Amino acid sequence: MLQFFVALEPMPQFNDQLANNRLKDLHAAEEERLIETLAARYGYEYINLRGYTINPSALSEIPEAQARAANLVAFDRSVNTIKIAVKSPHDPAVAPRIEALVQRGLTPQLFMCSSASLNHAYARYADLTTTTAKKKGVFDFDEEDISRLATNIRSLADVRATMTTIGTSSNARRVTETLELVFAGALALDASDIHVEPEETGVRLRYRLDGVLHDIVDIDNYIYGRLMSRLKLLAGMTLNKKQEAQDGRFTFSLGEREIEIRVSVIPAALGESIVMRLLDPGVASFSMDKLRLSDIMRRVMEVELKKKTGMIITTGPTGSGKTTALYAFLQQVHQPDTKIITIENPVEYKLEGIVQTQTSPDYTFSSGLRSVLRQDPDVIMVGEIRDKEVAETALQAANTGHLVFTTLHTNNAVGGFPRLINLGANPLTFKSAINIILGQRLVRLLCPDCKRARQATANETVIIDRVMTDHPQPPAINRPFTIFEAGPGCATCGTTGYKSRVGIFEAILMTDAVEEAVLRDPREHVILEAAKQQGIPSMVQDGMLKVLHGETSLAELERVVELPREAGDPV
Ligand SMILES: [Zn+2]
Repeated sequence: MLQFFVALEPMPQFNDQLANNRLKDLHAAEEERLIETLAARYGYEYINLRGYTINPSALSEIPEAQARAANLVAFDRSVNTIKIAVKSPHDPAVAPRIEALVQRGLTPQLFMCSSASLNHAYARYADLTTTTAKKKGVFDFDEEDISRLATNIRSLADVRATMTTIGTSSNARRVTETLELVFAGALALDASDIHVEPEETGVRLRYRLDGVLHDIVDIDNYIYGRLMSRLKLLAGMTLNKKQEAQDGRFTFSLGEREIEIRVSVIPAALGESIVMRLLDPGVASFSMDKLRLSDIMRRVMEVELKKKTGMIITTGPTGSGKTTALYAFLQQVHQPDTKIITIENPVEYKLEGIVQTQTSPDYTFSSGLRSVLRQDPDVIMVGEIRDKEVAETALQAANTGHLVFTTLHTNNAVGGFPRLINLGANPLTFKSAINIILGQRLVRLLCPDCKRARQATANETVIIDRVMTDHPQPPAINRPFTIFEAGPGCATCGTTGYKSRVGIFEAILMTDAVEEAVLRDPREHVILEAAKQQGIPSMVQDGMLKVLHGETSLAELERVVELPREAGDPV
């Protein structure tokens, strides 16, 4: 008897659940009937989306956050018409979304539906995120909003001002609008990177403009959290991995322009910080003219780029413009009958007519270089030499009839020789393989519209003289020196005082004297002494000439190179 009783006990609970479900169904059915009645009264067609196959291409026309904020969903489409289900057609959030679709040349057809229908359709966004966004990197907010915002932004102050106007109505909208503004501002001001960094006082949003980070605003924790999740999803990262660094990317298009965003998330003491690099391959073009080499450097490179074999190495820290210079060189040597293959990590810009490959765990610089050599190329670009194997293979390729472009992570041109030796390369192969090693930095150019002229101080005059005395072809410049400094900022420069950047260069040719020094005593000052007779100015000299020509400021030059200051210099 007892056993029988115990066995029976779960039965009433089961019935309760059944009843609950029936009740829910009844409520749902009631809501459906209510919407159906309202639709008839307002003159709309009614639709029940449960059981309806939501068309992903319709769904993706309206980003999820915007759809949820307006209680609507795009559920089907043909070429020109798009079917929209709304809960309340008179909701003020609906009209702007409909308007945006009309602007894109679509004819919206409105239906009314229940919350249950909307939720059923919203669940399908998850599929979009995992399939489309991960593979193709589709943006989940309005690209036109970004475009429109960008045209109204002229300065950092505009971004700050617009940030304060962002909606207070709904949190979902705030996240979307903040994200849109972050990208619109970055694109309008030609930022190269966007940083979001949690700090003691708040989460800081910063842009890198012409190589320098500028604070924009602090964002609140709610927005920060949602922004991180959204960006991670977009970049195909794992949401709940908060203790590991992750890398990803996504793209979006602005009219004709295809913008690629490379995202890096790193865990930090106060929360994850994110850095996004903006790549705009559509506007990138590379030419020797754009490098604006000094006359001496231009003549040197013209000779070097006519050679069919050997190695051209650019050196410098990250962000010194090495890749840009190499791309310009590649464009210069590119002829219809030359086969050029690159191995890059990652491919930063797409170059027409050039086969570009990207490294991966099973396609390293080393294995990539060996595969590339089997493709019989004339010119090879190896993104970076970081180990002995790549160094030796690249040197060997340069020695066997290929023109090889590559980079080394060193402070200056002369540092390239000891670096290769430290990696384990044989210095006896240098003379026949290496043609030239360049060093470079990027300096910001003063804004032509607001820069200010002044006379150099006694101290500045001493520094300028110290740099220029050794210049192989010292230019005649009137004394006292007139130099320029950054102005207060204006509309042209987005209130930063600087506008765009240019490289300052130095180079060492592989001559007999240099080889002798490298083999005898590969310390930098020894090799430099041997290279002196080549008559190529140093980076500091190249930069100082730009200061004396009023293109950049002394402060900016000192930001990127070391100036010869000594104790006891006049003030
Ligand atoms: Zn200006």
